[in-house]
Amino acid sequence: MKLQEYQAKQILSKYGARIKEGKVATTPDEVEKIAREFGEMVVVKAQVLVGGRGKAGGIKLAKTPQEARQKAEQILGMDIKGLTVKKVLVSPAVDIASEAYLGLILDRSSKKIVMMASPEGGVDIEQVARETPEKIFKIYIDPFLGLKPYSARYLISKLYDEPDLIKQGIELAISLYDVFVNVDAQLVEINPLVITEQGEMVCVDAKIILDDSGLIRHPELEKLRNPEEYSSDELEAKETGLSFVKLTGNIGCVVNGAGLAMATMDLVKHHGSEPANFLDVGGSSNPEKVIKALDIITRDSNVKVILFNIFGGITRCDDIANGLVQAIDEFNPDVPIIARLTGTNEDKGRQILKDANIPVFSSMDKVVAEAVKLAGKNN
Ligand code: GDP
Ligand code: MN
Repeated sequence: MKLQEYQAKQILSKYGARIKEGKVATTPDEVEKIAREFGEMVVVKAQVLVGGRGKAGGIKLAKTPQEARQKAEQILGMDIKGLTVKKVLVSPAVDIASEAYLGLILDRSSKKIVMMASPEGGVDIEQVARETPEKIFKIYIDPFLGLKPYSARYLISKLYDEPDLIKQGIELAISLYDVFVNVDAQLVEINPLVITEQGEMVCVDAKIILDDSGLIRHPELEKLRNPEEYSSDELEAKETGLSFVKLTGNIGCVVNGAGLAMATMDLVKHHGSEPANFLDVGGSSNPEKVIKALDIITRDSNVKVILFNIFGGITRCDDIANGLVQAIDEFNPDVPIIARLTGTNEDKGRQILKDANIPVFSSMDKVVAEAVKLAGKNN
C-alpha cells in the first residue's frame, strides 16, 4: 500500500526525522489561506501516488499567498501519469544547498533490508543506477543487529564530509530504519534529502510503501489507504474477497489459488497470448464469488474468452462444478467459457460441466492452448 507524501512525512516526523511542517488543501482558497498563515515563500506540491511530480509540473514555489493560489489553480485537477490531482501539500519552501538520496528497501535475495545512499539526489534513482551505478552506495542490515551507528556512519560519509552533517545523517538513517521495521514497510525513501543554505538536513520528499501482508498488525495505518491506488474494479473485487489485478490481454482468467493463477498467466503467455487479469477466487466454490468474478471480468471489452482453471483439493470438484454452473447460469456471459478441472472427485465434476455444455479439460496446457485459439478467432 502506497502512502502519499504528506502521510509519509507525518510518520517520519514521529520518528524524529526533520521535515518541514505542512498542510493539505483541496481548493485554491485553502492554499491561499495556508500560505498566508505561513507568511513566507511556500512550495505547493501535488499529492498523487507517483514519482516525477516535479518534472510533470506538479511542484511549484510561490512567493506570495496570491501566487500560491495561482499555482494551486494550475496544479489541482492536473493529470500526472494518469492520476488526477485532488490534494496539494503546502509547506514553507526550503533553500536548497544540496540534494542527496537515502532509501531503504527489502532485498529478497540477501533476505536483508538494504539502505542505499547517493549524492545524486533529486533525480530519478533508477536512472542513476543505470547510468552511474558507482554513485550508489549500499549497506545490508543484519536483522538481528539492526542498523548500528558505525554502519550508518560508513554510508552517510559517502554523502557528506562535515562532522555535523554526518551526525545528523546517522540519526536520520537510524530513524528511517526504525520506521521501516516498525510499520512493516517495503520501501522508505527520501529523495531529495536536502541540506539547506543554513546547514540543516531536511527530508523534502518522502515515499513509503507498506507491505500489505503486514497491515493486519497496523489498523491505524490501514486507515491511510488511498482509494485511488486501485481501480474501481479492484476495490470491488477486494470487498468480495477476490484478489483481482486488471491486465491488458484478452483472456479472462478465473482461478482458485494464487500460485495456480500465476502459473495460468505464465502458460497463457507461453502460448503467445496475454491474460486480461489475475484473479484468485480463493478456495471456495461459492457461486456469489464466481458471479462477481464474471461480472468484473466481462466489463472489460478486451476479454474474448473466459478460462476457469480449478484444482479441487479440500474442496471437491463436484462442489466446485455445481458452483460454476450456477454462477454461469445466473450471469450468462456472452463470451465463450472453457474450464479445466482436476483433483478430488474430478470425474463427477467434469460430468457436471459437460452436462451444462461447458467444454472441460483435465490438462492445463490443453485448456490454455484452446483459450488462446478461441481468443484469436474472436478478435
Ligand atoms: P517528485 O518530483 O515527485 O520526486 O517531488 P519532490 O518532492 O522530490 O520535488 C521535486 C523537486 O522539486 C525537488 O528535487 C526539488 O528540487 C524541488 N523542490 C521541492 N520542494 C522544494 C522547496 O521547498 N524548495 C525548493 N527550492 N525546491 C523544492
Ligand atoms: Mn522526489
